[in-house]
Amino acid sequence: MNKIKEKYKEVKGKYDVIIIGAGLVGSIIARWLSKYNLNILLIDKEPDVGTGTSKANTAIIHAGYDSPFGTLRGKLVVDGNRMFYQMCEELDVAYKTCGTYVVALTDEDIKTLEKLMENGRKKGVPGLEIISGEEMRHREPYINPDVKGALYAPTGGIGDPFMLTVAAAENAVMNGTKLLLETKALDFVVEPFSLHKKKVSGVVTNHGTFLADVTIASAGLYCDELMEKLDIKYDFYVRARKGEYYVFDKAKKLQVKTVLFPCPTPVTKGVLVTITIHGNMILGPTAKEIKDKEDTSVTPEGLEELYKGAKRLVPKLELTDVIRTFAGLRAGGFLHDFIIEAPPKYWGFINLAGIESPGMASSPAIAEYVVNLVQEQGLELKKKNNWNPIRKSRPDFSELSLEEQGWLIEKNPLYGRIVCRCETVTEGEIVAEIHAPVPAHTYDAIKRRTWLGTGRCQGSFDTPRVIEILSRELGIPPTDVIKESKGSYFLTRPTKEVPKGELND
Ligand SMILES: Cc1cc2nc3c(=O)[nH]c(=O)nc-3n(C[C@H](O)[C@H](O)[C@H](O)COP(=O)(O)OP(=O)(O)OC[C@H]3O[C@@H](n4cnc5c(N)ncnc54)[C@H](O)[C@@H]3O)c2cc1C
Repeated sequence: MNKIKEKYKEVKGKYDVIIIGAGLVGSIIARWLSKYNLNILLIDKEPDVGTGTSKANTAIIHAGYDSPFGTLRGKLVVDGNRMFYQMCEELDVAYKTCGTYVVALTDEDIKTLEKLMENGRKKGVPGLEIISGEEMRHREPYINPDVKGALYAPTGGIGDPFMLTVAAAENAVMNGTKLLLETKALDFVVEPFSLHKKKVSGVVTNHGTFLADVTIASAGLYCDELMEKLDIKYDFYVRARKGEYYVFDKAKKLQVKTVLFPCPTPVTKGVLVTITIHGNMILGPTAKEIKDKEDTSVTPEGLEELYKGAKRLVPKLELTDVIRTFAGLRAGGFLHDFIIEAPPKYWGFINLAGIESPGMASSPAIAEYVVNLVQEQGLELKKKNNWNPIRKSRPDFSELSLEEQGWLIEKNPLYGRIVCRCETVTEGEIVAEIHAPVPAHTYDAIKRRTWLGTGRCQGSFDTPRVIEILSRELGIPPTDVIKESKGSYFLTRPTKEVPKGELND
């Protein structure tokens, strides 16, 4: 301990467990570990939780029929799906149990459905059924009239990865976890341990060094940077696999009601037509490997592919009423499996890599798997008597009855000021999120929590008001308010003081 203190002068604290990365997976691991008598630190390099892959995906709660039998991914998705809905109930996060469909348009596709169903049954996916084309047309009236049949998975559904990440982190914090944002893991504290192993004793960050008995790396796309520091190599490389999307206005008349997949290829599940938990229809994603892990641009080719792919499922679909496009980046890997392990050459270190789709659906099972690994690393896991699994969401004004809205406004007049007109989000809701246990200190953090700025006007009405509110509540100048990541300012300061009277009209 003293040796380490000498080596790392800036030791800021000692924890039982440190988790690097407050994405959906890291936050859910933190929540799971907070059941036990452990002192936990959760860190993320960004100003909010869930700003990596977890903020831009399709949000399907996969039933698990497609991931290969015998793989870790194939097992954890089925277990995760079984645990998912209860977790959402406990965290007061919305979900939709509408089931999912893989749509067959040819006789060859029907054979694929049969293979998928067999794979799913082998893995214990409940309720799988191949329905006729006629039944599919009845359930989804806009489906391609040539549909030959579909694989129906009743345990599939739609989730809310944004709020799930926030709620899991919040529940972990309520149960004693310390969360440090804008804290980047730069290196590890490594000590001798035994003949064949070294011990990872903590993490060196931009805010000093934190020691821990067990360190968990759950860094999404950046897992390889951390692995490099420890010289951990797999038959695996991490590449960003971009997925582009179209988002439609909620008011669009042609809406599907469920999740429609085409028949999959070996590389991708294909372009889906689905709705989100908030009621917008979306098309996506594409699947293209790229080098730049920050490149979330959309491309003409990608959008063309989406349109063509989606038209095969829903021929009447047109792009009128598209209100946004976006792209997310999968932490794609060569192995196409999750790596979740305690690498043999280290003690006190657990590594997560390649947590691509269906990482969200698998997340509670991933967390349980990691808890077992933590125990194997020598930590005694004693359940807390006072662990509280319940986290309550704050009022969503647009979902309340008129009577409830009136009562809320009487209690706090800020709920009477509408800031986002498309989605009916009030100043009261924004202020509540700014001061929540996992605070929203950026525009996008507020957007993810309240759904403000996601309607037809895409934030053009609310943005100046949100800047004012953030500035007032955080006691910072409006020029310091950021959109998402460090330095993403909305407003700029003059580069030099402009003498009075010389301002342009
Ligand atoms: C296009 C697309 C579609 C998808 N569709 C689905 C779907 O329908 N259903 C499903 O189940 N899954 C889906 N997924 C997969 C799912 O989104 C991911 O598996 C999941 O979000 C991964 O979460 P994570 O926490 O591992 O990663 P991330 O969300 O990327 O979190 C990693 C975190 O680590 C932080 N970090 C990185 N390096 C450091 C460091 N050095 N120090 C501190 N912090 C660091 C990052 O800031 C980030 O917050 C999809 C993914 C994509 C991209």
